[in-house]
Amino acid sequence: MKVLVIGSGAREHALAWAAAKNSDVTQVFVAPGNGGTALMGGKVRNLPLKVTDIDGLLEFSVQEGVNLTIVGPEQPLELGIVDRFREACQEVIGPVRDAARLETSKVFAKDFMQRHSIPTASYHVFTDAADAGSYLASLGDDEFPQVLKASGLCAGKGVVVASDLPEAEQAVRSMFDDRVFGDAASEVVIESFLKGEEASVFVLTDGTDYRFFLPSQDHKRIGEGDTGKNTGGMGAYAPAPVVTPAVLEKVEERIVRPVLEGMKKEGTPYTGFLYIGLMIDNGAPSVVEFNVRLGDPEAQVVLPLCKDDLVDALLASLRGGLAEVPFGMLDRSAATVVLASEGYPDKYETGREISITGSVPDDVMLFHAGTALQNGVLETSGGRVLSVTAVGDSLRACIDKAYAAVEGVEFDGAYYRRDIGFKAL
Ligand code: ATP
Repeated sequence: MKVLVIGSGAREHALAWAAAKNSDVTQVFVAPGNGGTALMGGKVRNLPLKVTDIDGLLEFSVQEGVNLTIVGPEQPLELGIVDRFREACQEVIGPVRDAARLETSKVFAKDFMQRHSIPTASYHVFTDAADAGSYLASLGDDEFPQVLKASGLCAGKGVVVASDLPEAEQAVRSMFDDRVFGDAASEVVIESFLKGEEASVFVLTDGTDYRFFLPSQDHKRIGEGDTGKNTGGMGAYAPAPVVTPAVLEKVEERIVRPVLEGMKKEGTPYTGFLYIGLMIDNGAPSVVEFNVRLGDPEAQVVLPLCKDDLVDALLASLRGGLAEVPFGMLDRSAATVVLASEGYPDKYETGREISITGSVPDDVMLFHAGTALQNGVLETSGGRVLSVTAVGDSLRACIDKAYAAVEGVEFDGAYYRRDIGFKAL
């Protein structure tokens, strides 16, 4: 069986790693992959195709006889890769373009949640600066913070939590007048601020049945103590203790089932991975956002905690039997620490040689992101460089193991947070 993984981050390295474990899988192609997937060797091989080159990916899949394609990032889903692959009878994991609007249009997601009584922050939608400004001016001081969100995809940068009116007005100006997010902010959602603790829950679904991965928590900010700028994610751990069995039951009843039933009723059944970003306040979960794929860096902790084979579950989600396929989770914990290039998330340099010293224990995985293999030398090629994951019998154990492994990875200007997972301890 041949598998194609689309993407170039640590999430895709983790997906390729999980797929390669299946003994029926003879080849795993990663398009375009990174230095880490290039170094895997054996059945894993990089493919020089961009994630947005839908024609090229489809042509390759048909010609090579790929049996299963797993889409990592959101851009190809927004471009309708699943629709195209399905038309060509190619098996692919992900939602069709219309269903992907749960992530690609925050206006769609909010309206959908309202139609189906799914708990989320109250909101208004604006298409011009004047209306948004008058709405904000009508609010009392005690109604701040307000959260302003560009409706379209902004690579995680389109959200401003404004603590007062001047900050909110500034955000309106930058979205509508300065158009810093371009067309992605032609519609802007302004919503109330939710208190509580954030966590993520992923499911794999065939549109009707679904299976849960372990709940996780990521660290979005660059600085220790969750300070400084937002990033793609500086670390994560699972399971997240804030998602108790009682919370998970509410997530299932109030969110997962209504989403799947609602999407089916509206003629766009949802398939693939669904990422539910939650705010949990006093045991009550609300939806902060949906993503229509696995999260990064959360995938790097939830995939190593799957007891059963991922490819078997993915195939069952396409061919039937998802409810019955073994899909247990290990009774263990995992943590991942992201090593970034100094300067990230602003300007940073690339092309720095990476050295990995010492041996990597069995339950430690180095999932690469911004790395490239140049004439046999491993170099940095992005902001987030590597995600060092460790699995252990407790959160404490895996955090210690991950930090010990981080010591063995060196490049000039390597930066990482030293407090990943500590909030949960
Ligand atoms: P990403 O995909 O990178 O997670 P995004 O651009 O899709 O981000 P959201 O997840 O909607 O944006 O928001 C980003 C962050 O802003 C959230 O993780 C959360 O910390 C904060 N946030 C968003 N909405 C709210 C809200 N209503 N109340 C409190 N905080 C919020």
